[in-house]
Amino acid sequence: MITILRIGHRISRDKRITTHVALVARAFGAEKIYIDQKDTKIEENLNSISDKFGGNFQIITGIDRKKILKDCEDTIVHLTMYGENLEKGIKKIDKKRNLLVIIGAEKVPPELYQIADFNISVGNQPHSEVAALAIFLDRYTKGAWINNKYNGKIEIIPKNRGKKVIIKD
Ligand code: SAM
Repeated sequence: MITILRIGHRISRDKRITTHVALVARAFGAEKIYIDQKDTKIEENLNSISDKFGGNFQIITGIDRKKILKDCEDTIVHLTMYGENLEKGIKKIDKKRNLLVIIGAEKVPPELYQIADFNISVGNQPHSEVAALAIFLDRYTKGAWINNKYNGKIEIIPKNRGKKVIIKD
């Protein structure tokens, strides 16, 4: 099981990017996201997506980050541009264990670098938590996320031109 922990979410500034982080988490194979700041709007958005498109994705906002990390028995990965090389880092992770992936917004508290089992970079240039998470999950799952089944009310049938959508009752 893969869980994401989004820290430093600021409701007014980050609402769109944190929503995208949660959408990427859901679509790329994570089963749960914790967001430190309470944000019922993002919860509603994601639950509405899951209601239509299926799956068992869980979103929990307004959590106590310190408690989650203290009680965490998963392997903890922190995505940061200062971390070790993506390919090298991923090889060291025990894939049989559950995984908690931490991503930041603004400056990340220094203790997180110590709490994490692995600080992993997706290249060493600053970019985006959405891109970092997507690439990390793609590499971690070796691309298998793309075949995940969601059994939603809405199913999109891939097509070169036009739109083919199945809507189930
Ligand atoms: N200046 C911030 C810092 O010191 O951590 C970075 C802020 S960045 C906009 C937000 C988040 O995107 C980071 O906390 C990290 O999780 C992720 N991120 C950005 N660039 C990354 C990279 N090259 N590799 C891995 N994660 C990255």
